[in-house]
Amino acid sequence: MNVNQQPHMASPYGQPQSGYQGYQQTGYGNQHVPGGYPTPYAPYNGPASTYQPGPPQAPSSFAPSSAVHSQPLPPDSVAQTAPQPFYGAPPTPPQPFPGAAPPFSAAGPAQPPAPPLGSQQSFSQAHPPSQPQFTSAPPPVSTASYGGPPPTTQASHPRAPPLTSQPSTFSGGPPPTSSPSQYPQPMPQQPPVSQPNPFHSGPPQPTTAAGFPPQGGPPLRVPHPGVQGPPMTSQGPPTSQTNHVAPPQPGMLPGPPPVNMAGPPAQPSMQGYPPQQNGKYLYSSDIPPVQKTRHRIDPDAIPSPIQVIEDDKLNKGNEPFVTGVRGQVPPLVTTKFQVKDQGNASPRFIRCTAYNMPCTSDMAKQSQVPLAAVIKPLATLPLDENGPYIVDHGESGPIRCNRCKAYMCPYMQFIEGGRRFQCGFCSCVTEVPPHYFQHLDHTGKRVDCYDRPELSMGSYEFLATVDYCKNNKIPQPPAFIFLIDVSYNAVKNGMVAIVCQELKTLLDYLPRENPNVASNIRVGFVTYNKVLHFYNVKASLAQPQMMVVSDVADMFVPLLDGFLVNVAESRVVIESLLDQIPDMFADTRETETVFGPVIQAGLEALKAADCAGKLFVFHSSLPIAEAPGKLKNREDKKLVGTDKEKSLFQAQVSFYSNLAKECVAQGCCVDLFLFPNQYVDVATLGVVPTSTGGSIYKYTYFQGQADQERFLNDLRKDVQKQMGFDAVMRVRTSTGIRPTDFFGSFYMSNTTDVELAGLDCDKTVTVEFKHDDKLSEETGALMQCAVLYTSCSGQRRLRVHNMAVNCCTQLADLYRNCETDTIINYFAKYAYRGVLNNPTKNVRDSLINQCAQILACYRKNCASPSSAGQLILPECMKLLPVYLNCVLKSDILHPGADISLDDRAYLRQLVSAMDVAESHAFFYPRLLPVHKLNVEGNALPVAVRDSEERLSKGGVYLLETGLNLFLWVGANAQQELLQNIFGAPAFSQIDPNMTSLPILDNPYSKRLREIIESFRAQRSRYMKLMVVKQEDKLELIFKHFLVEDKNNSGGASYVDFLCHMHKEIRQLLS
Ligand SMILES: [Zn+2]
Repeated sequence: MNVNQQPHMASPYGQPQSGYQGYQQTGYGNQHVPGGYPTPYAPYNGPASTYQPGPPQAPSSFAPSSAVHSQPLPPDSVAQTAPQPFYGAPPTPPQPFPGAAPPFSAAGPAQPPAPPLGSQQSFSQAHPPSQPQFTSAPPPVSTASYGGPPPTTQASHPRAPPLTSQPSTFSGGPPPTSSPSQYPQPMPQQPPVSQPNPFHSGPPQPTTAAGFPPQGGPPLRVPHPGVQGPPMTSQGPPTSQTNHVAPPQPGMLPGPPPVNMAGPPAQPSMQGYPPQQNGKYLYSSDIPPVQKTRHRIDPDAIPSPIQVIEDDKLNKGNEPFVTGVRGQVPPLVTTKFQVKDQGNASPRFIRCTAYNMPCTSDMAKQSQVPLAAVIKPLATLPLDENGPYIVDHGESGPIRCNRCKAYMCPYMQFIEGGRRFQCGFCSCVTEVPPHYFQHLDHTGKRVDCYDRPELSMGSYEFLATVDYCKNNKIPQPPAFIFLIDVSYNAVKNGMVAIVCQELKTLLDYLPRENPNVASNIRVGFVTYNKVLHFYNVKASLAQPQMMVVSDVADMFVPLLDGFLVNVAESRVVIESLLDQIPDMFADTRETETVFGPVIQAGLEALKAADCAGKLFVFHSSLPIAEAPGKLKNREDKKLVGTDKEKSLFQAQVSFYSNLAKECVAQGCCVDLFLFPNQYVDVATLGVVPTSTGGSIYKYTYFQGQADQERFLNDLRKDVQKQMGFDAVMRVRTSTGIRPTDFFGSFYMSNTTDVELAGLDCDKTVTVEFKHDDKLSEETGALMQCAVLYTSCSGQRRLRVHNMAVNCCTQLADLYRNCETDTIINYFAKYAYRGVLNNPTKNVRDSLINQCAQILACYRKNCASPSSAGQLILPECMKLLPVYLNCVLKSDILHPGADISLDDRAYLRQLVSAMDVAESHAFFYPRLLPVHKLNVEGNALPVAVRDSEERLSKGGVYLLETGLNLFLWVGANAQQELLQNIFGAPAFSQIDPNMTSLPILDNPYSKRLREIIESFRAQRSRYMKLMVVKQEDKLELIFKHFLVEDKNNSGGASYVDFLCHMHKEIRQLLS
């Protein structure tokens, strides 16, 4: 019966040292219920004190207060049992998942092709001492490289030259106009390089982003503070020239004297891009941007996230990303692109921090670049990409390496005419089973290579045999159990009625593999306050029956048969139940709730049914009623900022982590929907969801009508999303590196197996790697992620993702092939876990220190010698400082006064399983100038940087964080624009309380609403829209997301933080 009696082939994770012989050590086997379940209804033999089972068919009372009654339902309830038509509109069809969202990438103007990656950009804060070096002529190589793509119409796109060129250091400031001869010849018509010209209407300047200097360009002289730059060629405002005598700023930089980096102030949404003028509704404003602060360094002279994002779209968004070449850095998550799997996993499944890993651990330590992969095993792919093929090897199961158990994949080398294969991970040679034998061609490749996904593709699935099933038994289809809080608060705020109403429709959309076949998932229902009510909804009943369990100390399921049912069979009874629940508890006075027993009840029900599944818990309050897992209110904001702050993120009792372990053993995933009016201790309530691959949703101060849209959209998506149950993930690597650390919503009972009671299409697991030996440049580094799971139809499968990256002996190669968005995703998860056990300040300091080391190592080993006053950043990490600052000033690491402890705990847990696209928007929100919308095309206006300086009073901006959507309306926005968006004739008549835009019959309104919908479709959670009028009190919330600015709680501005980083780097170098 037990899988562990099988030899090594029996277990997918049968690596000798792992301690994971089948499921033996993880509680799957006989640990909890020796010998399996002696009777299917074991819990019945348990505590009978409060439950006397009556005749199963006897109707039970719906009175929620007593133990068990056997009364007929009230007649009026009975009268409601006729099936009701679904409310409102026809059922929502299954929604497309994020990846399937329609494209909305901004198609920029034609662009010269990019030169190779890996050049560096530099600039300086230094000043006279370093001046002489800037007078030297540019190195010949870089001049040559400039002659490449002719600078056409774009300001920003002539990219840096190859790294082989001598990087020209740059100290900012307007270039010397007196030395035009230093400019490479192909750029005769250009205006001076680093002079952002915010108001130009002609061809934009061919500089790099927003005044960031081109690599390899001519040296630029540092102007003396206060000295005016050269005359400007544009009609820009002359005022800014005086800004450059920077006032002393309080804050972080005692470093070098301030030097202004460029000419005039930034202009919103220009950034070197021409406005989109071919649209009918171009609301360009002539009003200068809001400008409040003066900088010692012009923000336009430091690396711009928008520029990097736009460059990547232009350079990588036009051709499919083909995964056949090892070590290629994929397009950014902000670029829309198509993937062709030719042997490595798509970046939608795996993103790495570095695609060229250092060969030795010494090199890795020296650089401090984290080596990690963010893996989203069940990611939803866009419609134009094929999901992984399913491979069925029949009864013999997948072919694996004899030693390390890696699955057959393109990295296995067939030898001896195809009779054996050598493992790419451990080099062990394994016999090819006769049924799998195939001849090799003259290159040594199997002739059937391209007919077999496991030989030619990065991602595929194997059908698992019974050996891969718990207890060697084919699994039952999974079950969904809905557990609804019916205490006073939950009833009063409308949640109970909304959930019950929605479920009547939603149950038709349970996940299924074939859209033409009904879902196999069974469902069950529980309501609760201080006691639990189980419902018998067996198809043969005329009415649902309630069974009350009031002894919550030792939870059991009082229902043999009829608790978990097939929706189609029991539809009438289920609908009757869902109609009656809101009425039954409408007059409840019960305010107290339990929580632990609720999860226990769902868990016991799954155990009794011998299946995996998911619990949907709808909960409203701190569980203070006497019961296991009872909590007390420990909210104490005074601890914020002290050494005890970490306790706020920790669970207050150990009960839930023990419960989580049991849930994982059963494959019981828990999703928690919270509707709190006050502190509910998310840190503790979230333990089970975050250990079981579940999700937490939080609707603070939920008010039925106003908030149901967000909740219902989340619930629909959550119920319908593709997921796997009872999953185990293992990452194998080639010799030289090994996975050492894991981040995400899962449980680990040993050091190698990531156990996920549930794994949905939005969840990621982040894996960190460390060296345990040398890597080879020739073979690279390989990883294989295998996830064994039960599909929603009950099929046991193995999903395999393979990834190969390059290895290098030169640090420069590492720094040329990093992915900053993924590094930030890793750092955020690392830091957010760190606050559980360390003072927040220490976590912040160590993050800053690690990033300073990364950049200092580059400076020392890869950049050309130059003055210490210059900050030189690797091209592909030039946004590391700005993004790192966003992590540091996030609500977890640097809370403002107004964020609740629950919200911090919630966000901390949320980020732990986020993918790179969502973490990018979360830390650096997308800010779109929608007044520049072109209604005639699909292109979006180019986003602007997250700073108040970029907002124009005459504009309207859409800001998206992945969790929130804001529409900011400038006080001077044109009347026609307001009329088109809001149907309001004037700014003063816009209702700031609206949560959706009116449906107006004009192309602008239509296009804007389409964009909002497309943003929502791309995210795993529904984003509520908030309209923010300039100068309105809500603006404070909005400004919190302008992450390049200094914030209210003392978070540094981008400019200040960059100066601080520069200082840190200089200290490391000196
Ligand atoms: Zn092997």
